[in-house]
Amino acid sequence: MKTSSPTIRRSAGVLLTTVSATALYACGGGGGGGSDPSPNAQAVQLKSDSNAMPNPPAFVPLATPLSADATEYDKHMQIARISWANNNDITAPYWCANPGQGSNPLLRDRTVVPITELFDGFYFVGTISVGQYVMKTPDGGYVLFDTMNNATDVRDITVPQLQAAGIEPSKLSGIVVTHGHGDHDGGVAELQARYHPATTVVGSADYSASKPYSATVAVDSTNLAPIPLTVAGATFTAMATPGHTPGTTSFILPVTYQGKQHKIAYLGGSAFPGTAAAALQYLRSAEAMYGQVKEQGADASINSHSFEDKSIDRIHAIQAQGGIASSNPMIQGTAKIQLGFATLRSCSAAQLYNRDATAINPVWRPTRTELYAALSNGNDGTTHVRARVSDYFSPISGGTVTFKTAAGDSCVAATDEEGIANCVIRSSAKGAGPAVVTAEFSELARADAVELSSFDTRQAQ
Ligand SMILES: [Zn+2]
Repeated sequence: MKTSSPTIRRSAGVLLTTVSATALYACGGGGGGGSDPSPNAQAVQLKSDSNAMPNPPAFVPLATPLSADATEYDKHMQIARISWANNNDITAPYWCANPGQGSNPLLRDRTVVPITELFDGFYFVGTISVGQYVMKTPDGGYVLFDTMNNATDVRDITVPQLQAAGIEPSKLSGIVVTHGHGDHDGGVAELQARYHPATTVVGSADYSASKPYSATVAVDSTNLAPIPLTVAGATFTAMATPGHTPGTTSFILPVTYQGKQHKIAYLGGSAFPGTAAAALQYLRSAEAMYGQVKEQGADASINSHSFEDKSIDRIHAIQAQGGIASSNPMIQGTAKIQLGFATLRSCSAAQLYNRDATAINPVWRPTRTELYAALSNGNDGTTHVRARVSDYFSPISGGTVTFKTAAGDSCVAATDEEGIANCVIRSSAKGAGPAVVTAEFSELARADAVELSSFDTRQAQ
């Protein structure tokens, strides 16, 4: 959050950026600000060196904003369609583009997808239509997320596929249900009867005495705050995301791959609901999920209907390459996962408007940060950095960009009318050499639109 407003002006063709003292003090090495050689507390002028700093690459708009009298539906969907057109593999495209998902033939494709390891001790098994995920826990047990349709699926698919991967079904110590539709919780009763898992988790609003199974944890479906949940020694984030059903629950799952932690965003429901009230819940849940995806740095996504977020394509890619030993197609990176959930939110806002024409919500605009210059001066420990921020239509002025190194040195600058921010990082460790710099644009709320955050990273020269 900015605490004061930067001012920007041009003079004789030279870019002058005046940043408030509050913002600029973040530029001080080591966070103390004491090493800043320009301790003018009121305003510090940073004059860009036009000889040393390159010009930005030409800005190419991807589209023209719709006119003000376009419908809310079209304004949201314009953004979603541009995002898909440029990122064909992002999560959540199908039910965004196809509100009538019931006609999707993939929903009836019962082709078995053999059990496939996606991360260390984390598997998918099921059919093209619907599947389930298996997570090995620190206790040596396994948690099953969703259970497919019925006892027949448990007998014919779940159990033999687990055994094929060397997983003893009797070690099933927890069941987690994304939502109470029969293609997700239909196998719970059979699994409980066979293996007596200690824990079964379901959203409270999707659970009732009429269910043929007993839940031990009912996630409060009225509280959208994320909660840590520990099942059989495995701790992950659960979050009520009502909308698809009242009790839909979503998850952020920490996993490992080749010694590094990754986080999977697991949306518990997919198809949009029919009523305006449920569509509003769906929108708020999509926004909450985007927030968690961003806060926790989710860099992969899954869905029980694996075609919905295109994770089935990644699962097939893993099968084709014979496993995840050489590379992992599941890992898409934080930017792409955030874009996917931002797109889901755009579609949700559009769908809500279709059900309630009084539902006006700001358009969420994905942005791009281009850190196109980072020049290190080894003699004085400074790095001159410059980035441009834009959305699909134009550069963004009046935004805030934070430039920082892994060592914690940073500077903060506002974007000018060309979307350009520049400042000088002063290193606390002189002579450390050029650092890897990250430029992060902070989310910027306007009256009718939200410019979403973005970042870029490059090695200083
Ligand atoms: Zn469902």
